[in-house]
Amino acid sequence: MSEFPTTARVVIIGGGVVGTSVLYHLARAGWTDCVLLEKNELTAGSTWHAAGNVPTFSTSWSAMNLQRYSTELYQGLAETVDYPMNYHVTGSIRLGHSPERMQEFERARGMGSHQGMALEILTPSETRDLYPFLELHDLQGALYDPADGDIDPAQLTQALAKGARDLGAQIHRFTPATGVSRDNGEWIVQTEKGDIRCEFVVNAAGYYAQRVGEWFLPHGGRRVPMMVMSHQYMLSEEIPELAEFAEQNGCKLPLLRDVDSSYYLRQEKNGFNLGPYERNCRAHWVNPDDPMPDDFSFQLFPDDLDRLEWYMEDAMARVPLLGQSGISRVINGPIPYAPDGMPLLGPMPGVPNAFEACVFTFGIAQAGGAGKVLAEWITQGETEWDCWALDPRRYTDYTDDAYCLAKGKEIYGYEYAMHFPWYEWPDGRDKKLSPVHEKVLELGGQMGAYAGWERANWFAKPGDDTSKESTQTWDRAGPWETRVREECEAVRDDVGVLDLPGFSRFNLSGEKSAQWLSGLITGALPKVGRMNLAYFADSRGRILTEMSVIRHGDDLFTLITAATAQWHDWEILKSALPEDGSIHLADYTTEYDTLIVTGPKSRDLMAGLVSDSADLTLPWLSNQTGVIAGQAVFLLRVSFAGELGWEIHAENADMPVIYDAVLAAGAKPFGMWALNSLRLEKGYRTWKGDLSTDYSVFEGGLDRFIKLDKPQDFPGKAAILAEKQRGITKRFVTLIVDAGAADAPYMSTLWHGGQIVGETTSGGWGYRVNASIALGMIRADLATPGTKLEVEIYGKPYPAVVQVDLPLWDPKNERLKA
Ligand SMILES: Cc1cc2nc3c(=O)[nH]c(=O)nc-3n(C[C@H](O)[C@H](O)[C@H](O)COP(=O)(O)OP(=O)(O)OC[C@H]3O[C@@H](n4cnc5c(N)ncnc54)[C@H](O)[C@@H]3O)c2cc1C
Repeated sequence: MSEFPTTARVVIIGGGVVGTSVLYHLARAGWTDCVLLEKNELTAGSTWHAAGNVPTFSTSWSAMNLQRYSTELYQGLAETVDYPMNYHVTGSIRLGHSPERMQEFERARGMGSHQGMALEILTPSETRDLYPFLELHDLQGALYDPADGDIDPAQLTQALAKGARDLGAQIHRFTPATGVSRDNGEWIVQTEKGDIRCEFVVNAAGYYAQRVGEWFLPHGGRRVPMMVMSHQYMLSEEIPELAEFAEQNGCKLPLLRDVDSSYYLRQEKNGFNLGPYERNCRAHWVNPDDPMPDDFSFQLFPDDLDRLEWYMEDAMARVPLLGQSGISRVINGPIPYAPDGMPLLGPMPGVPNAFEACVFTFGIAQAGGAGKVLAEWITQGETEWDCWALDPRRYTDYTDDAYCLAKGKEIYGYEYAMHFPWYEWPDGRDKKLSPVHEKVLELGGQMGAYAGWERANWFAKPGDDTSKESTQTWDRAGPWETRVREECEAVRDDVGVLDLPGFSRFNLSGEKSAQWLSGLITGALPKVGRMNLAYFADSRGRILTEMSVIRHGDDLFTLITAATAQWHDWEILKSALPEDGSIHLADYTTEYDTLIVTGPKSRDLMAGLVSDSADLTLPWLSNQTGVIAGQAVFLLRVSFAGELGWEIHAENADMPVIYDAVLAAGAKPFGMWALNSLRLEKGYRTWKGDLSTDYSVFEGGLDRFIKLDKPQDFPGKAAILAEKQRGITKRFVTLIVDAGAADAPYMSTLWHGGQIVGETTSGGWGYRVNASIALGMIRADLATPGTKLEVEIYGKPYPAVVQVDLPLWDPKNERLKA
């Protein structure tokens, strides 16, 4: 046994399947001077008792990437590291009970084929051909995933551990980390066996991640947003027919998921494993009378079969063979949940050189991909795939324990539910309210949560159907559609107002801050009194983020970005600040609110409201101060809706009077869904939809925001120059789609001549141009106006035509410059 290390490049806290995969991938990347600490034996947390299912299915592109990579890794792992393991690739069948569910499957099949996977849609009788014991009552069809299967989680972990050790990485079992401290820009990880000094530290402590996370609070950290659910599966006794099936076919039955009933049923040896995600679920360790024990290694919760009765009966009606046997064993273990059910994988918010790879609900399926992604974060500072959906910084300060509990239970109880674009999940709401929230509600606002902030999606009139049932559709039409159209038309013909709380808002000042900011962005800064859009690239020239830069003085700026980007963008700026303190950055996100007042009559409306000191003839992209209804305001001459308009920014306390005045002057309230339609017509991109690190700044069509001849160097410049020389292979385009009942959602596949040539990044109906619009990325040689393509929308191909690279609405921007 080697001596206990005193230094390492990376220390990973937690030896479950995820931490071990991170270690393996670091070692494979050549970072072998890495240490994993496990307080008990490897797998002692959630990993040892996991059922070991390894699905690829997801409607999240990032999660699908993670899971697809895992299946590819696991296929060859035993041989690569010379550690035998049981990995049964049985395929899986997801049962569909409704047309909407079949549409969801079609969407996943389309995404899967874009990722090179052969998912298939089955008819009920084809489903029974693969699964002879199945009752077909009320089934519409199924999704077949040939890559799905099950793996022994302990063997998988040991194989990853062996692979890592063989490459030179170290694993220390029965060695709890007990704390961390910082010294000279390095981490000291404390253990009872001694301290380890390291550059990077990873919290991979599974359901203990919040406890380990507490150590990072003094170093800028936050409470890890998570909670713990109890999750059970039951093993049946042996069933002779299953043994016969296996013998005759030389394989196990495919794994069955009845996603509408909410359980999976898998052949386990010659019996069944039934695992429900029950609505009447149970959280653990959330009350003082049920404290989290200091050590729960290799332990389980007591069986709680009452909760599962309905699911057992439903499964027995579906596969009557299940009813022939008794239960031989129940496993009831802790499973951690972040509020959206996705893991925390990436930089630890607010803490330098610290990362999270924790809170996995599907850690066996995702560990392979998670190891790859986290190793890239550490060794390269960026990842091959955009992983925002998994990034810990997607949450900000609204995730208190009550929120985590409510959302965790909601997502667990609806683990397999369809996520319709029109439905707003009801739990954990009202975390961040605009100063005019009550007024928006009184106007009929149907609210949605945006990074915790409540904003109106649309405004209902008395008698409109606002039920959950009405939202259970992928189609465009619904009770909201007439209202959204009216709202868009009001903005087109008259003047509308949208309350938009939660814009991330950073003030930047200090001598040479202009020069400093210019050295971070790809383009130019606005002149004093003006504003523009600025893009930040990563070292590969890919789109890291977009900010509105408002220049008040030579070295005085406000930077405004998306609500969800608050912590992400803050970190980009903060981490680049010079150490001499000459540049000052401050976050004013929660102090201000914003109204968008826009439409051809907005100038008339504003003229009746603003004091004489403001000049409403100042041009598009100008900024100035003013007074409305006796309150100080800041006015930006800009409109994300693409009409003449202003953003009114004011301190929270002042906004109710201003909002009243704007409404009294005749502005019609409009919501986020109308805004989405309006911005699509202008080709305005949204962050982490149309703009992400999956695309370079050139690919994103942001050429006019790149200034290669400015005096400052900037991140990504070398890569941007190289790409320019090499030639750009993908291009951002606007498409008009001859769509059916539904518009193209994010990541719909684009086809040309029978080949996949790209994907949509967003889509929707444009009520001013009366057409279905999609924004997307295609092979550069096809990005010429008039090219005919097909967009696959929920499994069906629809003709689409590439448009001239100008806004569909008001191509010369005459209306907004009026
Ligand atoms: C009943 C059940 C069935 C499941 N079935 C599946 C499935 O079929 N497929 C799937 O993908 N997922 C499944 N899961 C989820 C899966 O088990 C987890 O997502 C996965 O095990 C998480 O792995 P991890 O490495 O993140 O965490 P863990 O396995 O919990 O590992 C964390 C480790 O950190 C260690 N640790 C904690 N604190 C410290 C410290 N201070 N110092 C050192 N070490 C520390 C712990 O001892 C533990 O070993 C299931 C879960 C349950 C409960």
